[in-house]
Amino acid sequence: MKIEDFPEDIRQYIIPTQEGKVVYRCLGCGMEYSIEKLLYTCPDCGQILLIYDLEFDRLKKISGETWRRIFDYRKMLTIPALKGIYLYYEFIGPVIPLDSVVYLGEGHTPVVEANTYMQDKAGVRFYFKNDGQNPSASFKDRGMASALSYINFLIQKGHISDVLAICASTGDTSAAAALYGSFLQPRVKTAVLLPHKKVTPQQLSQPLGSGASVFELPGVFDDCMKVVEALSDRYNVALLNSKNAWRILGQESYSYEIAQDFEYNMDNKVIILPIGNAGNISAVMSGFLKFYETGIINSLPKIIGVQSKHANPVYRYYLEPDAKKRKFVPVTVKPSVAQAAMIGNPVSMPRVIHLVNLYNKLAGKQNVFCIEVDEQAIIDWELIANRNGHIACTHGGESLAGLVKARSQGIIDKNDTAILDSTAHALKFSGFQEMYYEKKFPKEFEITSDPDLINSPVLIHPKDLKKVPAPGKPLEGDDFELFVRRVSEEIAKALELKNGK
Ligand SMILES: *Cc1c(COP(=O)(O)O)cnc(C)c1O
Ligand SMILES: [Zn+2]
Repeated sequence: MKIEDFPEDIRQYIIPTQEGKVVYRCLGCGMEYSIEKLLYTCPDCGQILLIYDLEFDRLKKISGETWRRIFDYRKMLTIPALKGIYLYYEFIGPVIPLDSVVYLGEGHTPVVEANTYMQDKAGVRFYFKNDGQNPSASFKDRGMASALSYINFLIQKGHISDVLAICASTGDTSAAAALYGSFLQPRVKTAVLLPHKKVTPQQLSQPLGSGASVFELPGVFDDCMKVVEALSDRYNVALLNSKNAWRILGQESYSYEIAQDFEYNMDNKVIILPIGNAGNISAVMSGFLKFYETGIINSLPKIIGVQSKHANPVYRYYLEPDAKKRKFVPVTVKPSVAQAAMIGNPVSMPRVIHLVNLYNKLAGKQNVFCIEVDEQAIIDWELIANRNGHIACTHGGESLAGLVKARSQGIIDKNDTAILDSTAHALKFSGFQEMYYEKKFPKEFEITSDPDLINSPVLIHPKDLKKVPAPGKPLEGDDFELFVRRVSEEIAKALELKNGK
């Protein structure tokens, strides 16, 4: 829609202008630092940072009603920079000029309601929000759009040049980093560190295809993370892990979209998502808090973070009901089909602790919960979901397994509506589906295949057929007719088709 066609009172807000005063704030000592430099941890005390707009209160001068109309009308614009996460510009990056924005199609992912069969099975109304429909097929694109737009902004302002962007990854971070980095080449080059054999072939192909330098290391993600941290301490590199607070800022868009998807009515809503490095749950809490503080949503939805028994440090932390007695202890991870969340020492734990406190306080009750599920439930629920119209990855299965568990524990009421994060596309993790169908899971996964969920292709090659077609060698005449007849007969037999004609 053209600017002149918007209602007059909204027109002035439709194209946002640079404003606000954005700083890094240390979660340990509270010190604030200018964003003119790339910072990941506090130079003073070493703790991680969050990004704050010191002039955030100016946003409260506009009514919640007006904000809702601004976002709804802004959706009708055709300006690419405002199509993705920066639709919520004032909340995500109010200092980044629109011409620095890198938009590759991220965000505005579909919300898909489960069919009646699935809702009956889960005992509650629910939707998947398919973040696997982002350009690199995971939610990580939301954070990378923010991080790379910011880097682009620094380059354009002349603060930095020739950036080497680097990250450790369980697969999806590197795919997203390499994709967004490649858009800014040659000024940005990307290098990714992956745990050898702990990412799927699909995920490995992504940074390779985007032209990044790919390094595989022995060990698990936590080991790669330590190496990346050592590199970023000693060398001039731009760290793209979720330690980078710009990533968190971009991922807040997930919450803003959910608010908008449900017409800003968050009553009786429950958001369910997997926890790995805990960046995403930090972002989701932070996003809802900002919309709540500005009156854009009327209540804070319940948030449920889900972890596998094989990688459950956050769950264990919250097992202790007395906040004063809680102590964070990293865990040693075991193999998990929710491989992108196979993290024993989440970098964002201090953010989680800070934001959970704030979230529960503002909600006036416990409103953030942590659930643990086993590997069997994760993959079974993934496969069941995908037999019912979804494209959930294993982590989407983890969200669904968490929904079922939370429902059985009474954390979710039958009148609630749940929105589940399927954080990546099913295809990225199809190898686990294959292992399930072929009953090839190594023992450590603790998964046995349910015969009812197994599916495999059937080769039809009737023994009596002397000749079959091959590439470049088509059959003709009687041979071909015989082939078609015999093969159809076999398929009809396999499907138990009755001759009705
Ligand atoms: C990164 C990732 C997660 C975990 O998110 P965190 O922000 O690390 O907690 C979950 N699912 C998928 C598919 C991911 O790529
Ligand atoms: Zn500090």
